[in-house]
Formats: sequence, structure tokens, C-alpha cells
Amino acid sequence: MKYGGGHFNYLLVCPRKLWLYAGGVGMEHTSERVAEGKLLHATAYPSRPGRYEELEVGPVKIDFYDPRQRVIHEIKLSDRMEEAHIWQVRYYQLVLEQIGIAGVRAVVEYPSIRHTEQLGELTDEDRVRLSEMERRIDRIVESEQCPPIPPKRKGICRRCSYFDFCYVGEAVPEEDSDQEDSL
Ligand code: SF4
Repeated sequence: MKYGGGHFNYLLVCPRKLWLYAGGVGMEHTSERVAEGKLLHATAYPSRPGRYEELEVGPVKIDFYDPRQRVIHEIKLSDRMEEAHIWQVRYYQLVLEQIGIAGVRAVVEYPSIRHTEQLGELTDEDRVRLSEMERRIDRIVESEQCPPIPPKRKGICRRCSYFDFCYVGEAVPEEDSDQEDSL
């Protein structure tokens, strides 16, 4: 596999973000929100360290995997469930399947809103969609042109680690209630 979970997540957030990330334009070290996300992951399961393993498969890093139950646990800082989170984790399920760990389920946890999203085993439809997503990622990351700032920004830009990069000398998008982020 050539992509990490972030590629699948960012594909659904913003093609420009995906292109910058894939090209190694890293701004995440400057982002407070990314730092908050890392802290959340570091402190998420203080009383259950023995139950989970950290898995690295090529570029894919899964922070919490329960090998006995075959369940991936992904924790999100966001205060709303997003498709990008779900398909990031669906991709992890596919990666484990590809290395011979079948029948994996997943749980996406949102501590800030006390919500847990349960994901069953991968279906054939999921596999088809992941394959299509991978082809879309290929097209974006192989493009020589950085995709433009999407016209419908929906407020995602304000919370994005590439905000300063994208809006140097540009009009800043209006705030709105349709906030998104990818953490
Ligand atoms: S700031 Fe906005 S346009 Fe730029 S990468 Fe982030 S989400 Fe995309």
C-alpha cells in the first residue's frame, strides 16, 4: 500500500490539502489543533494500555488495535462525525485485510460529544469505494498543479493546518456554522 490513512481522510476534506500533504508540504507541526489531536491520542486510554497494540503497516499507522477482539479504535477530537473519519478507518480495515487479518471491525470515538460510531466488517461495496478513492488520490497527488482553493469552503479552511499557506494575501473566508475538520 502506498498511502496512509491521512490521504483517504484528506481526499474527502479538500483535494488541495491532500495534494500539499502528499507533496510533503508539512504545516501540521505549526497547528494547535494537530497538537491537541496528538495529545488526545497520547492520553486516550491511560487505564487500558495492555489491551491495545500500535500497528504500523507501511505508511499506515493504527494507534489502537485490539487484537483479541479484532477491533480498531480511532479517537477523534472533532465535535461531529464526518465521512472523512469513517473512510480513513475503513481504509485501515482494508489494510489489515490485505496483510491477512480478516473480519476486523472498528470503533470511531468522539470524546467531546460522547459519541461512538461502530463500524462493522468491510463489505464488497466498501472495497469498491476504497478502490475508487485510491484512484482519485492517485490522480490528485500525481497532478503537477496544486488544486485551487475550493469555492465552497464551508469554514473548513479556518481550522486547517494549511490555512496560512493558502490565504497569504487572500481574502479570508467567512465563518459559518458548517465547520469541518479532519482530526
Ligand atoms: S486551508 Fe482550505 S483550501 Fe487550503 S488546504 Fe486547508 S482546507 Fe484546503
